[in-house]
Parts: sequence; structure tokens; C-alpha cells
Amino acid sequence: MLFSGMFIPTLKENPQEAEIISHRLMLRAGMIRKLAAGIYSYLPLGFKVLKKVENIIRSQMNSAGAQELLLPTLHPRHLWEETGRWNEYGKEMLKVLDRHKREFGLGPTHEEIITDLARREIKSYRQLPLILYQFQTKFRDEIRPRFGIMRCREFLMKDAYSFDKDAEGLAKNYDKMYETYNNIFTQCGLEFKLVEADPGLIGGSVSHEYMVLADTGEEELLTCQKCDYAIKAKAEHNLTSCPKCKGKFASIRGIEVGHIFQLGTKYSDLLKANFLDENGKQTPFVMGCYGIGVSRIVAAAIEQSHDDDGIIWQMPIAPFEVLILPISIADDKIMKVSGELYKKLKKEGIDVVLDDRDEQAGVKFKDTDLIGIPIRITVGTKTIKENNVEIKLRKDKNSFKEKISETPCKVKELLKNMK
Ligand SMILES: [Zn+2]
Repeated sequence: MLFSGMFIPTLKENPQEAEIISHRLMLRAGMIRKLAAGIYSYLPLGFKVLKKVENIIRSQMNSAGAQELLLPTLHPRHLWEETGRWNEYGKEMLKVLDRHKREFGLGPTHEEIITDLARREIKSYRQLPLILYQFQTKFRDEIRPRFGIMRCREFLMKDAYSFDKDAEGLAKNYDKMYETYNNIFTQCGLEFKLVEADPGLIGGSVSHEYMVLADTGEEELLTCQKCDYAIKAKAEHNLTSCPKCKGKFASIRGIEVGHIFQLGTKYSDLLKANFLDENGKQTPFVMGCYGIGVSRIVAAAIEQSHDDDGIIWQMPIAPFEVLILPISIADDKIMKVSGELYKKLKKEGIDVVLDDRDEQAGVKFKDTDLIGIPIRITVGTKTIKENNVEIKLRKDKNSFKEKISETPCKVKELLKNMK
């Protein structure tokens, strides 16, 4: 990609409206723009990161044998009345009327819809087990939307639902999703903790939350200093040491990005969603549900990794892997070296952008740091005289010189270590 042709409206000043770091940096880096309270447009750079996260999730879900589908956003009232959640969800659910004055809700979650599909289509135990998932824009009418895409009204989620014939099957699928989620957050390059959680409005018995660790996180967590155990501080006031190993707790902060539940037969009972078991008996589906806040991951990743100059992306979800920065576009030699490097890296399948804008070098350096591209290659008059370029990693303070001819190899090596 050529930077000059891209729509990346970066901001020099901190926007007034931004209350937290990720919100501020996403606005400044030209990733998002606000349309209305809690409603944001993703500009090309923000959308690119969103898609990278989505693809990591998709590939892990598919590897676990889950199948992707797409359910509607508009949910007829009668389905939500069957589970009693039309009222239970209250004002958090945005409700609309169609031209025939029929009521619909904009789905904040899809248990009713997927269970209705299952009761119509899955007749026999032979069709089980099954895990279905989707990427879907969800709507939640927050009373006070804030913090950019962290607490907004319209957001992108991946939600998955498992259907089993018995509790044993559910436990198996739950373990599978538990592992899959660990893989997803690890692959995104995030530092995270798993906590036992309260199932809340969704219901069910066993439930876990995935927390991305960040000093600015909304939740206080108590984490064992000896083992992996962690809990939400507010959930377990009376615990003074780890129930697993008696280790001491340390307090850390986290942002919830994923939540998995063993629903059991809560929704299948309410919606009378049954199948015929081995003995020809009508039996309710045993269900699990598994959510990830896709857009939330993007904000959480920024809260976890940034500095005063901007975002520091982990390689797997960075908007670009490499940026080539020619010091002056008026200098033919610099542009020739830059252009050739760009072509070579592109040919290697590297996600590279050439900053060919007619801007002061200082502006370009600032934008590169703000946008947070992991590898910067600077092409300047002095260095190319020695047949070198300067390579700098966004996460490191110091740069180093590299022979122009060796640069593609070096970049590939760096990429391998940073993925
Ligand atoms: Zn412990």
C-alpha cells in the first residue's frame, strides 16, 4: 500500500471527547470516528485491525470444528417473550416497530434465535454435537456509552453456541472452546488471564471470563503469584489466599474480552427445543455459549500496549507489519531504494506500507509511532551512501543499521520472531 493514497486522517491534538487511552489513540491514529453517542465508524486502518482479529478467531474456531453462519440482527418479539427476556433485558435492548407495527429487538445476543433454529432443524441425536458461530454487529442501548469502542452501543462480536445430547458432551465442547479461546488470545499476542465468572443475565452454571491485562482495565483481579488462578476482586472478598495452592494474591487490572458459559438446558427448556435421543425420547438440547468482543479486543490491545507517542501493536494484529519511510520524496536515490525494498517485501507476502507522502520527515516519524507499526525502515541520504537502511522496532528505543541487500531477509527473520 502507498500511504499517500490511503484514508488515514491522523490528528495532532488529543481529542476532547476521549476519556481513555485506547479511545484517544484510535481517534488520533485515524482508526475510528464517532457518528453518535456510542456509535463509531471504522476507517480503513481500524477496519484492517478488526479484520486481522476476526481472521485469527475464524481460523481457530474452524480448527475446533465449529461452523460459521450468519443470523439476523432483527429479532421478533415473540421469541424473546418465550424466554422471558423481552422484559428482563429491559431498556438495554433497542426495540423497533416495522410498518405493520410488529415489534422487533436489535439483538444484543442470539440464544433465542439459535435455539429456535435448532428446534426446527435438529431432530435427532445423530445430528449432534454441533458448534455454530457468527461474527455479528450487536446492539446494546447503554445508558451512558463511553470510552470509545470499549463501552459503546454498536459493536462487533463473535458468538458461538454448542448443542449436545448430554452434559458429558457439553463438558467436552466447553473444554474445546476453553482451549480455543486460549489459542485465540495467545495468537493475538495478548497477555490475558482466565477467571471463573458469574453467569449473570445469560444464565447457566459454569462460566469463565477472559481478561486482557492492562493497568487501565475496568476490573480489579486477584491473581495467584504461584499458579494460574485468578478471580474478580469484587466476586470473592473473603478469599485471602489461592484456593488451589494457598499462594498469595496480587492485585492486577483487566478488561473483559471473552466469556464462555455452560448453559445446560436453560434455553432449550424455555423454548421447548428437543431432539429424539437413542431411545426415541424427546430430550432438550444441552447447550453452551461462547462470546468474544472482537472490537473490544482492538481497544484492549491498545490499553495493554502503548506509550506516550502512540500505539505499540503486537505483530499478528498490527494494521501493517512494516512501514518504509523515505526521508525525502524529492530525492530520487532515496525513492529508488525505498521503492525497490517495498516491491521485494510485498513479493514476500509481507504487509508493508510505503510512506510516500510529501510531508516533513518529522511528521512521518510521529505518525508511524502513533499508528504503531511494529517495524520501521528508514531510508535516508547518509545511510544509503553506506548501502544501509535504518531499522527500528516500535517496541524498542534503539534502531540499528542493515545492509540494503540484506534487509528483506532481516525483516523476514524479525517477523518470524514477532508472530
Ligand atoms: Zn495458586
